[in-house]
Amino acid sequence: MSVVEFEIRTQARDGMTDITEQVAQTVRDSGVAEGIAVVYCPHTTAGITINENADPDVVHDILGQLNEIAPWRAKFYDHGEGNSAAHIKSSIVGASETIPISGGRLVLGTWQGIFFCEFDGPRRRRFLVTVLGK
Ligand code: ZN
Repeated sequence: MSVVEFEIRTQARDGMTDITEQVAQTVRDSGVAEGIAVVYCPHTTAGITINENADPDVVHDILGQLNEIAPWRAKFYDHGEGNSAAHIKSSIVGASETIPISGGRLVLGTWQGIFFCEFDGPRRRRFLVTVLGK
């Protein structure tokens, strides 16, 4: 098993950063041929997701719809930090993704990429890649 921690500096309040290459490199470095990679975000106002990384309009539309679901301001928010929207988006997206490894490579579809999702940036963030298998 190997665990690699990455640091990421996000550039805006909301954003999705393609981290597919960092995950793929971690898998290559691990030498694991068959197994799984777990990508995990240890933050309550960020997340990890898999979606299309070919057309940037997809990222734009996902972030736009998340803003519709969880607007930055709402009358019923109680949380004193004022970032309830970011917490809600983090739970919608989730804190991790698990990707199969076969033949020493991530099993991703042609259009799939792995994204670090920022919902309360810009900040210095981190994510962990755990590779399990043999
Ligand atoms: Zn908060």
